[in-house]
Amino acid sequence: MAVVVYGVSTVSGIRGHSGYSPGWDGWLQNSILTSAALLVGLRAWREGPSRVAWGCLAVGLGLYAAGNIIYFAYVQYQPFPPSPSVADMTWLASYPFLYVGVIRLARQRTHGANWLLRLDSVISGLGLSAVAMLWLRVMLHGTDGSLATVLTTMAYPVGDLLLVLILLGSLALNSWRIDNVWAWLTAGLGMFAAADTIYAIRVATDSYTAGTLLDPMWAVAAAAIAIAAWRHNDRAPATRTVGWAVLVVPTLFMATSLALLVFDQSESGASPVTILAGATVLAGLVRTGFTFHEMRVLVVNGVEARTDELSGLANRRAFHEAAAKRIAGGRGTFSVILLDLDRFKEINDSLGHLAGDRLLREVGNRLQARMRQGDVLARLGGDEFAILLDNSSPESARDAAERLRLDLQKAFIDEGMTIYSDASCGVAVWPDAADSVGGLLQRADIAMYEAKRERLGTAIYAHDDETDLIEPLRLVEELRTALTKGQLVLYYQPKLDLRTGALPGVEALVRWQHPERGLLQPDQFLPQAERYGLMRRLTTCVLSLALDQVKEWQRAGLDTTVAVNISASNLLDGELPEQVRTLLAVRNLQPSSLMLEVTETTLMVDPPRAAELLNRLQAIGVRISIDDYGTGYSSLARLRELAVNELKLDRSFLTGIGDDARASAIVKSTVELAHSLGLTLVAEGIETEQSESLLRDLACDQGQGYHFARPMPAHQLIQWIAARAEAATR
Ligand code: C2E
Ligand code: MG
Ligand code: MG
Repeated sequence: MAVVVYGVSTVSGIRGHSGYSPGWDGWLQNSILTSAALLVGLRAWREGPSRVAWGCLAVGLGLYAAGNIIYFAYVQYQPFPPSPSVADMTWLASYPFLYVGVIRLARQRTHGANWLLRLDSVISGLGLSAVAMLWLRVMLHGTDGSLATVLTTMAYPVGDLLLVLILLGSLALNSWRIDNVWAWLTAGLGMFAAADTIYAIRVATDSYTAGTLLDPMWAVAAAAIAIAAWRHNDRAPATRTVGWAVLVVPTLFMATSLALLVFDQSESGASPVTILAGATVLAGLVRTGFTFHEMRVLVVNGVEARTDELSGLANRRAFHEAAAKRIAGGRGTFSVILLDLDRFKEINDSLGHLAGDRLLREVGNRLQARMRQGDVLARLGGDEFAILLDNSSPESARDAAERLRLDLQKAFIDEGMTIYSDASCGVAVWPDAADSVGGLLQRADIAMYEAKRERLGTAIYAHDDETDLIEPLRLVEELRTALTKGQLVLYYQPKLDLRTGALPGVEALVRWQHPERGLLQPDQFLPQAERYGLMRRLTTCVLSLALDQVKEWQRAGLDTTVAVNISASNLLDGELPEQVRTLLAVRNLQPSSLMLEVTETTLMVDPPRAAELLNRLQAIGVRISIDDYGTGYSSLARLRELAVNELKLDRSFLTGIGDDARASAIVKSTVELAHSLGLTLVAEGIETEQSESLLRDLACDQGQGYHFARPMPAHQLIQWIAARAEAATR
């Protein structure tokens, strides 16, 4: 406040006259200076770690104020004031204290600063000294009087210059990062130096008059220092000299020194100016060289910190960063696939971990070969890999995961030994599953474990309700109720004869008409049903509904068969054949009107038992279909032993069938295999006209997929059939 009043007094006409005013320039200015010194002193007294530093600054400011008071009260009234006067002595005595204060503060802030930062302060110091030398030379030129007078006059600018040097050096030591305290301190001390310099120039050129804006500069400067003393650091101290930005100030000094070297021809030989300028340039070159080196090391370190040593793929950190960036980018959905090898531990234990490591590397290579632009593949650790699949829907992510699994199911040849492996995948789609990287990985992990436990191969995290996670038991309770209250409904998807267009059968797909959450898809509740032992009841329920529907269709004149999916636990249930027989008998239905679909991987849980059960089912007259064929790794020999009527080729085979010769070849040989074993081949997931005609050309028997019809409620199926019949007659 006092500073503002004083400042205003020098510009407005408050004083009534121009020139020196004892009231303004004496009393007010001196009390501002003294209070500033006292405030800084108070801070020193109050504070622990920076006590000495602020103490020195307080003494420095105090001496300065004392010099001013001595001048004001005594020296100015002397008829012939001596030069140097007592006031001069006191003023000059303040400098060492200010230096020590600043240096101590800087040291405290940059404990642990590396030597490159020290080099920066040396460069800045040398460069400034070169400029200062040049300036001193110019100044000395026009000064006369006794040596003591000249020295005294010069002492101020030199002292101030040193102060600025120390300030800049301190800032360099902190990578030129200015916090709250240093902003005020630099402003205050800088202003002090500037005021002194302007004053010196004015006096030297005889152009000084009191009562201008120059006079309050010292008071303002003192006030700024007092403020600095009472501010708190708002930034952490610098610990690294990273990036090119730190080079800016040293480079400026280098450039100035270069200019001095080129243009300062006033003195022949090596003047102090040229020596200092030369040293600055040299030190600057060393600094630049080290910065280049440092940046290179940094880049190399950065790459290493983001690379998995074993596989050479990205590591967890790199994956996190890439995914976070992708989320921040925000365009389109993407999926995170978590892939975990099955039985890796056994391989590792039995073949040794060198073989295990080689397998992991090879797995990495195979996965990498499938990555597209924008995808990220990382090894998270152990036998766990993560894939960021750019622009993917849940369906395409599932397909991609299945393709990756197919790649991994192919034999690995390791030092003449053949290793078979498989993997389970969990998929989480952004932003449905979670909107953070951690959340996505966690959800993908949940799905992956589900896939492992249920032997699903790939599972998609599809719970739109977190309570599924927190309260699986509640879901199970609700599912129990659903079974008794008839909340399960069946959707039907036609299977079509690809040659004749006839409708040999439909597949029943279960849905849960949940009272609160709406229509739930199978992957939202089947895993829980399996885990909590509800699968038997669920399958009974589905079988009843499906067979009731067949009966109803028969009454309406539609003769079709229905396929019902059965799960792993159903295949271990010895009572299933008898139960199925009863369900058919009470409805007076032919056993051939029912087909049971068993996935290939389900058969692997307990192959001998599964084979026995399939035999018993077939003996009743029920037909058996191998679902999702190609995702497991059953051998032809085993298929031949099983009582099977149909193969359903997994839809992952259809991707790329049009343009990939290999994909077509696989389908072709599968058709041949099926036919040679007397099986019907059904292609799942036909989505396009093109796939349909290709499959027909490859002699595939039947097809199922969105291209023909999506799964639909029973009454819609009647309409769909009618519409097709009408379209055919037209
Ligand atoms: P699935 O037996 O392989 O059934 C085919 C799945 O593929 C169905 O998914 C169907 O909607 C979907 N689909 C059909 N055509 C296309 C197509 O062109 N493109 C694509 N992308 N998908 C197509 P849904 O209904 O979600 O069933 C998923 C799985 O849940 C089934 O796979 C089956 O394994 C299981 N499931 C369904 N109902 C039952 C059931 O009643 N009991 C048991 N145990 N499992 C069931
Ligand atoms: Mg099926
Ligand atoms: Mg299938």
